[in-house]
Amino acid sequence: MNQYINDGEKYILKTYNRFPVVLDHGEGVYLYDVNNKKYLDFAAGIAVFALGYANKDYNDALKAQIDKLIHTSNLYYNAPAIEAAKKIVEVTGMEKVFFTNSGTEAIEGALKVARKYAYLKDATKDYEFIAMRHSFHGRSQGALSVTGNEKYQEGFVPKEFSAVFADFNDIEDIKSKITDKTCGVICEVVQGEGGIFPADPAFLKELREVCDEHDILLIFDEIQCGMGRCGAMFAHELYGVKPDVLTMAKALGCGVPVGAFAVNQKADGVLVPGDHGTTYGGNPFACAAINEVFRQFEEKNLLAHVNEIGDYLYEKLEALTDKYDFIEAHRGVGLMQGLQFVTEKPVGEIVNKALEKGLIIISAGNNVLRFVPPLVIEKEHVDEMISILEEAFA
Ligand SMILES: *Cc1c(COP(=O)(O)O)cnc(C)c1O
Repeated sequence: MNQYINDGEKYILKTYNRFPVVLDHGEGVYLYDVNNKKYLDFAAGIAVFALGYANKDYNDALKAQIDKLIHTSNLYYNAPAIEAAKKIVEVTGMEKVFFTNSGTEAIEGALKVARKYAYLKDATKDYEFIAMRHSFHGRSQGALSVTGNEKYQEGFVPKEFSAVFADFNDIEDIKSKITDKTCGVICEVVQGEGGIFPADPAFLKELREVCDEHDILLIFDEIQCGMGRCGAMFAHELYGVKPDVLTMAKALGCGVPVGAFAVNQKADGVLVPGDHGTTYGGNPFACAAINEVFRQFEEKNLLAHVNEIGDYLYEKLEALTDKYDFIEAHRGVGLMQGLQFVTEKPVGEIVNKALEKGLIIISAGNNVLRFVPPLVIEKEHVDEMISILEEAFA
C-alpha cells in the first residue's frame, strides 16, 4: 500500500490531502483496500454510489453498452440518451435535459441559461447571480463564482466576478439584494458541503415567489441532495416548490461521471443550437448508467427504503446527540444527515479514527460529520456504523 501511496503523491497533482488508503474493490456497502482490509462505507464516494458495490445488474448493463457503443458525440442521436432524458423529464416534470460530464458542468450550463434568459429580455444589463453563503456548486470558474465559501474562491475568483451572496434561509436578505442587474438565484435545497443545512419550507416557497415577481430564473442545485438521497427523487418535491433550472450529478450515474441540467417550460428555448455543447456529455455509456440507476430505483422501491432507513438513522443519531455533549446539533433528512461537533472535538480526528477502525465517513462544512451512505444500506449497517463511531469517539 505504501508503494502506491508514494507513487500517487509523486505523479498526481496534489490538490487533495488523501487518506492513507488505497481502495481496491467493493461488495454491497463494504469497500476493501489493496491489503484486503474491510471498510463499512458511509460516504458512497461523496454521495455517489447509491446502489452498492459489485451490483451485478448495474455492471451487466454497463458491460452490454460497452460492447455496443460507448461514444457518438452530440452530432447524432443515441437511444440511451433519449431514454435517460425522457426518464428525467418524467420524474421531475421539467421540460428538457442537457447532459454533462460532472456536477460543475451542470452548474455552468444552468448559469448560462439564466444569463441568456435575462439577455433575451434586455441585452446585457442583468448578469448578476444571487447565491447563498456556505453553498457549494463546483470548481470551474463559473461554478466557483457562485460558491459561497472564501476557502474555495480565494486566489481564483476576483470580487467583481463573484456572485452577490445572501444568507441561506433568509428571504429578507435575498430581497434586499435583488437589483435590476440580477439574472438568477441559485441554491441547494439541502446544503451539502456547507454542513448539511436543509432549506426552510417557507424560505423556498417565498424564494420561488420573489423570482417570479422579478422574472429571474431560480436554479436548484440538487447535485448532492437529489436522486433519492432525501427520500424523494429530488429534494424540492418534499417542499412542493419547483425550480426553473435543476442540476443533478453525483448519484445520477452512480459512479460513471455524468451530470445534467433540466429546464422547465419557461427556460426551454433559451439556449439554441450553437449556444452550448459538450463532446462527451450524454454519451451512450454514461446514459446507459443513468437508465440502469432509474430502473433499480423502481425495481427496489428505493425511495421507500431511504425513508425507512433514513428514519432509523435519524433516531440513532438523535440518541448520540443526547448522549454526547460534544455533539451540538443534528440536521438532515433521509440518508443525508450531519452531526455538528463543538470546536474542541475536531471532526477530522474522528474521521481518521473511524477509518482505522474500518468505517469510511466524511466531514462537511464547519466541524460537521456527514452521513451519506449508499442508499441500499440496511438497519444492521446503521448499527454497525454507530458502534464503530462510538469507539472512535472514545
Ligand atoms: C459535488 C457538488 C457539485 C460539483 O460536482 P462535481 O461533479 O464535483 O463537479 C456541485 N454542487 C453540489 C451541491 C455538489 O454537492
